[in-house]
Amino acid sequence: MIDDHDRLLVRARELASNYLAGLSSRRVAAPLEVGALREALGGALPEHGVDPVQVVDDLARAAEPALVASAGPRYFGFVTGGALPAALGADWLTAAWDQNGALNVMSPAASVIEEIAADWLVELFGLPPRTSVGFTTGATMANFTALAAARHAVLADAGWDVEAQGLFGAPPIHVVVGAEAHTSLFAALALLGLGRERVTVVPADDQGRMRADALGETLTGARTPTIVCAQAGNVNTGAFDPLEAITRTARAQSAWVHVDGAFGLWAAASPALRPNAHGIERADSWATDGHKWLNVPYDSGMVFVAHPQAHRAAMSASAAYLVAASRGERDGMDWVPEASRRARGFAVYAALRSLGRTGVADLVERCCRLARRMAGRLSAEPGIQILNDVVLNQALVRCHTGGERAGPQAADALTRAVIARVQRDGTCWLGGTRWHDMAAMRISISNWRTTEDDIDRAAEAILRCVASAREELR
Ligand SMILES: *Cc1c(COP(=O)(O)O)cnc(C)c1O
Repeated sequence: MIDDHDRLLVRARELASNYLAGLSSRRVAAPLEVGALREALGGALPEHGVDPVQVVDDLARAAEPALVASAGPRYFGFVTGGALPAALGADWLTAAWDQNGALNVMSPAASVIEEIAADWLVELFGLPPRTSVGFTTGATMANFTALAAARHAVLADAGWDVEAQGLFGAPPIHVVVGAEAHTSLFAALALLGLGRERVTVVPADDQGRMRADALGETLTGARTPTIVCAQAGNVNTGAFDPLEAITRTARAQSAWVHVDGAFGLWAAASPALRPNAHGIERADSWATDGHKWLNVPYDSGMVFVAHPQAHRAAMSASAAYLVAASRGERDGMDWVPEASRRARGFAVYAALRSLGRTGVADLVERCCRLARRMAGRLSAEPGIQILNDVVLNQALVRCHTGGERAGPQAADALTRAVIARVQRDGTCWLGGTRWHDMAAMRISISNWRTTEDDIDRAAEAILRCVASAREELR
């Protein structure tokens, strides 16, 4: 068995190394026949077991053509990052160690690493010192957890125990969101019984920022329990809600302020970019991702709550066999919805330690610089328009046709045709979006590997696709 382990890990290492070695040169995503993929990976459930090395070999051979090089330097989709070497190494060990992150008694190492990573993150983001932290699968569950803490706190203030009684007969909660809130926030509201549609939507400005004056009007005179959901980093524009004004207005009404900072929170770790997030430390809870800008492998999210009691009350479970940690040690399950789970703190710790405070700031600032470079390259070409202020790592790009067919519909069609061509071409990958009722390409620079050369190569490929799409649609 030991020999088997060795053979297997050596082979897995070879396969992984080969993959990583080709990451920068392979097509980011290749067109693929899904039927063939199913056939290569599938077949009937085997009656008898297969040699583990064979299993891993076959898996890699069949899966690789259908992998997307989202860990590579020219993947600009969905604001996701790759995997820093230290984080990848720690993640491999996490799998080999197979620790359960639920209880201190199950893995003192996992528990203490989470504690340390939590302290580092709170310091890095400049959050209040007693802020509690949970390690989740991603920002969706981080939003969920934070809003559960919010629900607990605002109803406890109204004399209601929501964990015991649920929402049946509870005082209604006034939930306020910006017009540009991320879709995952609505998923969290739905799961918490707060409803996707019974929210008050505050209008946004031209960059997608919640309008603080409109929030003021919404909250005036409100005496009901209130939760305000703000955003640091709009998925289209990268813009930040005006957090200083929002927290001031909300505080005056005793409302809880939650900030969805899935990628944007990382800007708070950069002295140069922190002004975007001015006032962020005055919120009550925050959500972010490790698998986006910190470049930790999936899955990795974190939730922060300035009121540890509310956080814990919303998440705690107890049973006779669940021996709580003594002397204030950390039980990971007190801060997230799950009990048993992957010891996610190791990879986060490794990423933070390998970068250091200045490394995190450099990573974030470099991506923003590269986003500006990309926007500059593209907009130098006639008929290409950057729709947003490139304040962070996001650029929204729209292509216009020349000549008599020019107009919004032609621009929509051309922009969509360019996106399809870029995706087929494989030099880089970017997705599409609609922004203010216009089709746009969405370019997000979030990867630690991306260089100026990658930006230039990608910009050339995009411009090539613009030229050929214009030709075709002429
Ligand atoms: C990506 C993202 C989310 C969801 O994060 P997951 O990690 O996919 O769960 C939530 N909010 C914003 C602003 C995001 O960019």
